[in-house]
Amino acid sequence: MISFHFISQPRMAAALASSLSLLRTSRLALPYATRCNAFSHLSLGSLAASFAPLRPQRFVRHITASSNEEAAAKTAVDTGGPTIFDKIIAKEIPSDIVYEDDNVLAFRDINPQAPVHILIIPKLRDGLTQLSKAEARHGEILGQLLYASKIVAEKEGIAEGFRVVINNGPDACQSVYHLHLHVIGGRQLKWPPG
Ligand code: AMP
Repeated sequence: MISFHFISQPRMAAALASSLSLLRTSRLALPYATRCNAFSHLSLGSLAASFAPLRPQRFVRHITASSNEEAAAKTAVDTGGPTIFDKIIAKEIPSDIVYEDDNVLAFRDINPQAPVHILIIPKLRDGLTQLSKAEARHGEILGQLLYASKIVAEKEGIAEGFRVVINNGPDACQSVYHLHLHVIGGRQLKWPPG
């Protein structure tokens, strides 16, 4: 167990920043299960007590990120036209691809809401700007997307606990009108969602 009782508050903030930086680096290199084990010896109780003064700031940042996401979604419109995801499929702009087959593409979300946050999209949109546009003929690709989420979860080491989310329309904060599944995990997820 590690104790921080002798460290002053400013030094604690510096230590926290350094620790988070290390954690961010390690999460790029290690699957989630390995990362959990690597830090399981830390005492969460003492860490939480020591970092309590820093919590409000993190909370404010979370609210700001959520508000930005809502604002972006309110201005997005389903025109049926091309989206940023077409450029990602065409490899005209960079993306961090984690899985790809003939029908689907999976890449890391540029604004992750969890240590693992992957988007899975159909390569051929075929009218699927949002889930509510689905027709019976889309059954096969919808199944392929869902199956790809399981493959991605396994590849990312989060198969024991992950969430698949589809935001449909402005009230659900959809901001890109090309159907996509969010695969989220790598931390304890809360329920109900926001
Ligand atoms: P939604 O709000 O459900 O429509 O999700 C759209 C997601 O696309 C958001 O989580 C964005 O962060 C993500 N996103 C937008 N542009 C990119 C990009 N160029 N690369 C990766 N993710 C992106």
